[in-house]
Amino acid sequence: MRVLVTGGAGFIGSHLSEALLDRGDDVWVLDDLSTGRLENLSTFARHPRFHFVEGTVLDGSTVQDLVCRCDRVFHLAAAVGVKFVLENPLRSLRTNIRGTEEVLEACARHQRRVVLFSSSEVYGKGVALPFSEDDDRVMGPTHKLRWSYACGKAVDECLARAHWEQQQLKVTIVRCFNTCGPRQTGAYGMVIPNMVLRALRNEPILVYGDGQQSRCFSAVSDVVRGALLLADCTSADGEVFNIGSDEEITITGLAERVRTMCASSSRIEFVPYEQIYGRSFEDMRRRVPDLSKILRFVGYRPQRDLDQLLESVIRHTREELRRPIPARHAPV
Ligand code: NAD
Repeated sequence: MRVLVTGGAGFIGSHLSEALLDRGDDVWVLDDLSTGRLENLSTFARHPRFHFVEGTVLDGSTVQDLVCRCDRVFHLAAAVGVKFVLENPLRSLRTNIRGTEEVLEACARHQRRVVLFSSSEVYGKGVALPFSEDDDRVMGPTHKLRWSYACGKAVDECLARAHWEQQQLKVTIVRCFNTCGPRQTGAYGMVIPNMVLRALRNEPILVYGDGQQSRCFSAVSDVVRGALLLADCTSADGEVFNIGSDEEITITGLAERVRTMCASSSRIEFVPYEQIYGRSFEDMRRRVPDLSKILRFVGYRPQRDLDQLLESVIRHTREELRRPIPARHAPV
């Protein structure tokens, strides 16, 4: 199969591309390298079935051309990371809404099956846990830019659903919960790469707020496996799925776990949210997925626990520190 991966030079996209090559597919990546990196592709960049196109999903003719050439599409290109979105609100909305519209329109025109990567952020501040796909969404006010990412992803889901209803587009939506693993950069505010890097350097590990907010972190290998299973499941067309892990941990608990596993002498330092993200920032206290739907459809269960995930990130970060690449190691 010929597969287009938008955002394939990013963290999840590069792992997905690698998995597709491993199973025998031809892979085309379209990426503008805004947060993605060529080094993420280095282990397979010379593979004869791999093709890289530097460009943007906002360029309709490039998108049309690539979609037409491929049998299937995974759409991951997006402005990602709380820090990136707060610093680039307009660009983020354009990429995440207009870019997705280009991809969905091309897929509808050429009748290509597409898996759309959405986010657990669409649940917003909901408190009825675990979050299930049919739950109501609870958003903060529009002037708090943090919610613009969630709103953009929700519009993407609505667009996808409309194409499915009106144009019989075969589209499956995956709502990723916090996904981590090797190659994820901490430069845009992702917590695990930042904590691991600081712990390995014996620098203070930063915890925002009171640290009692909790998350469920999933290994990227699990998310990639789940997305591939859904892409091959015709009854998943038109459906939305949570994907990730339901192993919950507070951010203080995570900092302690990282420190122990890195055998670090770092102290844990609490930093007010305002200091990092400004005064109007809002966060959600807990975020736990209900994974029963994806289990029912494709038998998905996470296979790697948090310790295994952290081990893989620590190993990768140690290797990277041995061959310094300055930009990658800028913690926030
Ligand atoms: P990432 O930043 O590593 O990947 C996004 C990729 O998209 C990057 O390579 C970037 O260069 C590329 N990109 C951005 N704008 C583009 C444009 N206009 N045209 C072409 N390429 C463009 O982030 P990631 O964590 O790998 O996220 C991948 C997808 O998964 C995104 O859609 C994101 O919203 C979703 N997601 C990720 C997480 C997570 O925890 N990592 C959680 C929820 C949802």
